[in-house]
Amino acid sequence: GIALYPEDATSERELMGHADAAMYHTKQSGRNGYTFFTPSMQVSANRQLRLLQDLRRATDRGELLLHYQPKFMAAGAPAVGAEALLRWQHPELGLLGPDVFIPIAERSGLIVPIGEWVLDQACAQLRHWHDLGHAHWTMAVNLSPLQFAATGLLEMVEATLGRHGLAPDRLTLEITETTAMKNVESSLLILNALTTLGVRIAIDDFGTGYSSLLYLKRMPATELKIDRAFVRDLEESAEDAAIVASIVALGRSLQLQVVAEGVETAGQRDYLSDLGCDQLQGYHLGRPMPADEFLRNVG
Ligand code: C2E
Ligand code: MG
Ligand code: MG
Repeated sequence: GIALYPEDATSERELMGHADAAMYHTKQSGRNGYTFFTPSMQVSANRQLRLLQDLRRATDRGELLLHYQPKFMAAGAPAVGAEALLRWQHPELGLLGPDVFIPIAERSGLIVPIGEWVLDQACAQLRHWHDLGHAHWTMAVNLSPLQFAATGLLEMVEATLGRHGLAPDRLTLEITETTAMKNVESSLLILNALTTLGVRIAIDDFGTGYSSLLYLKRMPATELKIDRAFVRDLEESAEDAAIVASIVALGRSLQLQVVAEGVETAGQRDYLSDLGCDQLQGYHLGRPMPADEFLRNVG
């Protein structure tokens, strides 16, 4: 992040702050680059600071909540479970999606306690659904890179499952391809430990990172989730269709369940089923929704 004196700031403190804002910009746009400060970043830096202060109190104030999006084996079949997706009911800004505040939570470390809350809440919900007779439903929970690397993850997951009396194979932890492939050897240790516990692992946003096939083969994952960017242009772009077809073939040969996310149209649904995707998720089949609505619509 680069800020210049005297154009961008009048004091050392301000100059450093603006360089920081520019640095965050670089980090958000894919790292490994540089960005010059512009005044518009300051608005967003201020806004981010505000959000961080609010986020520190959000859990205590009960402002965080989960929405649940159904997952289907095939179109028309009953749901096999849900993915828990975090939301923040901000007192002034309204309902915020994770893209707005997860990066802030990740940078500040707040994602660790928040992630613990998410897992606990999602497991409590699944317990409740099981008790209502949907004992075959599974729950998928997203793990951030920081959570994934944090010590005590295994114990935390084990304790949470125990607290809610859930069999480990009812829970899928989703980590992105980028997270999984960052420190491959340590990822493998953590993933093997989680798998030994009996928890299922999904590689999320697959196709956007740089997987080594050699490592992918060693990953004890059960599921590959094709990134929705490929699904979006499937019908118009021959390249994207070819990529999806190869991911499905790859998943097949590694004996992984292939899940397509972001299915928005009947055309995409049919195309993906024909290609051999095992599971489908997307607005066309069901949007993320509050738990009571999920039960009414899906149960
Ligand atoms: P993800 O895990 O890949 O989740 C799928 C995202 O795609 C969700 O966005 C979902 O609402 C959206 N989606 C589902 N179907 C469709 C569709 O048909 N069309 C379109 N355009 N979008 C669809 P959301 O809820 O905004 O979450 C964004 C990301 O934030 C998630 O991507 C996940 O990486 C992260 N996230 C969500 N909840 C949590 C959480 O509890 N903890 C952590 N660490 N990350 C989370
Ligand atoms: Mg996910
Ligand atoms: Mg995804």
